[in-house]
Amino acid sequence: MQQARHLGAQKGWYILSGGRRDINEEKIPRGSYKLVTLEKPYPGFNLDRRRTNFDKKDFEKLKKEYNYRCATCGSKEGEPHYHWPNTITTLQPGHMDPNKPLELGNIIPQCAKCNRPDRNRWIYDNKGRVISIANPNVIDTCSDEVQKAIYKILYLKFGGKNPNEL
Ligand SMILES: [Zn+2]
Repeated sequence: MQQARHLGAQKGWYILSGGRRDINEEKIPRGSYKLVTLEKPYPGFNLDRRRTNFDKKDFEKLKKEYNYRCATCGSKEGEPHYHWPNTITTLQPGHMDPNKPLELGNIIPQCAKCNRPDRNRWIYDNKGRVISIANPNVIDTCSDEVQKAIYKILYLKFGGKNPNEL
């Protein structure tokens, strides 16, 4: 089903794709797609995160305010990326806080490299700087030293209570 490719699981359509490994409960040949249902979104699809409350014009205005540069790395739209010189920079509306809807006040222009979904770990300020953690799993990547320090902070804050009783 070729058409399904244009719908796209990243927009929430429940589509299985050959070659994608995540939820393929049935074998689909690489390069093929199957629309499972129109009744349900793709599993794990976060409607709130994808809800948008701005239009193209708003984003153009925002990009202009940032001089058409990625807020995080500074690469300029249409020019080679700073860190991947063979990639031409394209700007996308990036979340400042990935746990909140994509709407004005929560958007910075980010290049496709900085706006990758795996960056959902972080909360950014309007200068594109990381100011907080959006996904607690990021703690797993910290050294033991940092984990102990975090544990100490939380232990003191919550008085050593059972986490299930907080
Ligand atoms: Zn960037």
